[in-house]
Amino acid sequence: MTVDPHLDGLPGAVVHDEIVPARAPWLHAVAAGQTLRIVDLEGNQAVDFLIYAAADDAERYSAQDTVAAQANLFLRTGTRLLSNEGRPMMTITASAIPYHDTIGGACSCESNTLRYGHHTKSQHACVENFLEANLGQGRAKRDIVSNINFFMNVPVEPDGALGIVDGLSAPGLTVDLRADMDVIVVVSNCPQINNPCNAFNPTPVRMIICA
Ligand SMILES: [Zn+2]
Repeated sequence: MTVDPHLDGLPGAVVHDEIVPARAPWLHAVAAGQTLRIVDLEGNQAVDFLIYAAADDAERYSAQDTVAAQANLFLRTGTRLLSNEGRPMMTITASAIPYHDTIGGACSCESNTLRYGHHTKSQHACVENFLEANLGQGRAKRDIVSNINFFMNVPVEPDGALGIVDGLSAPGLTVDLRADMDVIVVVSNCPQINNPCNAFNPTPVRMIICA
């Protein structure tokens, strides 16, 4: 019998298990009480992440409410991810790295050209992934709000400046999120190749949902 270390400590039976290829979008429902585990298969892969309430997608993840409620910029084990109506949508129940980012935002063709030059205009970016994943459920650009970046290291320097620096993650590390309501999770497996958020080499991640 083979042992799959990525399933260690999951609180229930696996109901969905999928590899998201490098640079790809992903969307899936997670019911209240279920746990979503994200596995950073090869390490240092940023996973851009949005949450919508399944019952009414006008209710969605709010970085501002989450940061204000916990009086801390970083997402850690125990963080409750709040909606724009102040309700818990998901809770980080376990994390193999000390913190995750929710202020660095999602990369776009526009921000790439500003930061890295006009020759990057044609490169695929997280905003396009979010749009593609959301399109089938009728959401568009105005529905893309400030997101979470799992496994992305955005330290805040003493002078208040942000960095996007080498990741804290390593192959096989995980983060677990328990749904506190029925939610739709939308992911961009970040395709960025111009800064170290993906170690300049986007790689696949694994999404495991257990009941
Ligand atoms: Zn990105």
